[in-house]
Amino acid sequence: MTQRPDFIVIGGGIFGCSIAWYLARAGAGTVTVVERQGLAAATTSRAAALLTRIRLKPGQTALSTETRRAISELEQELGFSLEQHRVGSLHIAASPQTQTGLEELAAAAAEHSEPFEWIDAEETFKRIPWLQTDRELRVGFMPEDSYLDPYQLAMAYADAAKARGVEFLLETEVTGLMRNGDRITGVRTESRDIAAGCVIDAAGPWAGLLAAEAGWHLPLAPVRSHYWITSPGPLFPTDNPYVILPDAHAYTRPEVGGLLFGLRDKASLSCDPRKLSADLASPVFPEDPEGWDVLIESGPGLQEFFPALAEAELAHYVAAPSTYTPDGQFVLGALPGVSGMLVASGCCGAGIACSGGVGRAIAELATDQASHFELGGCRPDRFGEIDSFSDSWRELCAQGRSGKTSG
Ligand SMILES: Cc1cc2nc3c(=O)[nH]c(=O)nc-3n(C[C@H](O)[C@H](O)[C@H](O)COP(=O)(O)OP(=O)(O)OC[C@H]3O[C@@H](n4cnc5c(N)ncnc54)[C@H](O)[C@@H]3O)c2cc1C
Repeated sequence: MTQRPDFIVIGGGIFGCSIAWYLARAGAGTVTVVERQGLAAATTSRAAALLTRIRLKPGQTALSTETRRAISELEQELGFSLEQHRVGSLHIAASPQTQTGLEELAAAAAEHSEPFEWIDAEETFKRIPWLQTDRELRVGFMPEDSYLDPYQLAMAYADAAKARGVEFLLETEVTGLMRNGDRITGVRTESRDIAAGCVIDAAGPWAGLLAAEAGWHLPLAPVRSHYWITSPGPLFPTDNPYVILPDAHAYTRPEVGGLLFGLRDKASLSCDPRKLSADLASPVFPEDPEGWDVLIESGPGLQEFFPALAEAELAHYVAAPSTYTPDGQFVLGALPGVSGMLVASGCCGAGIACSGGVGRAIAELATDQASHFELGGCRPDRFGEIDSFSDSWRELCAQGRSGKTSG
């Protein structure tokens, strides 16, 4: 093992693996990833993994575009396909408000030369057999959008990074940070201290704990994201597009012959990261362990578009904390008054889609290169000094998720 790596990345989720690959690809020096469980074992493996490219938050389309480029490069580098499901995305708007949002999406797609087709309701019902509604619809189809297995993508970043010499220390917890004055100089683990030139905090929903130890509260909180998967049935062809339905606070995609559908809670649940178990297999939100409160509250809204939901058999339920910020932007960059440390978190449910951009952006910052990305909106200090563990702050982040309408 390298005694003093140039870079230590804390966390082997998709951000940590992507950052490691980009650092290695840039030939920036020695890189060690320290992960307390297995790779991609936390939030990453639980994602629905919609790879929506066009995003209305400033700067995010550039991050997701980089992921699309990275996937092709990884496939070439590793010599196998990451099996993207290139089904396209359907964006369905019924109310005047969501129709305005859809027009903004169409304009953003045109700006980025991304194909966007307006399709009529008849064509929409043909493409999505479970969809039925009497409401007037406006529908946009984006044929280039896809989804994939998030675990496979994270492992592809990791495998490609390993092939370029990155070391992965698994089942090793970072228990603290080493510091010299205002400079973070390495990490502490149970077995030893590891000094490094630069420490990168990519610890997902736990990232705020390490940043707080370094002296800055990150503007984010772990907030519940969740979805259900129905049993297979003829209404759910596997080549259907994925669907964004902001009027129902819902999204869907095919999943092994059934339908995966996510609902955004009107009042999302958050948790205190200091009490969040390292093992997400244990229920994180005991107040509503199977999501029934949300199904009862928001199911009828989805049923307006998906009447067969009433009889659908729910075969699986997946819930996990995803890090949200009040403004829906990532948290990327240096902490004020702290040198030798960078942070990559605050994914707002877009961390798989933007993983390539986040990896590249952080590698560029870590190696003092000019950035390809506009990261001003992602600064860790953009909300000033906060108490990120307080109930009131967590509530602001939960509202950030409840208000989300994109894929
Ligand atoms: C239900 C759900 C649906 C989602 N759907 C989508 C989607 O459709 N599209 C999309 O783009 N995104 C989606 N996301 C979001 C996506 O999953 C996240 O943005 C992404 O996985 C974040 O990756 P990460 O590496 O930051 O975090 P994680 O995957 O959680 O990785 C962090 C890692 O850090 C490790 N760690 C923490 N503390 C320490 C420590 N002290 N020492 C060592 N290791 C440590 C953890 O063990 C963990 O492995 C979804 C998320 C959820 C929960």
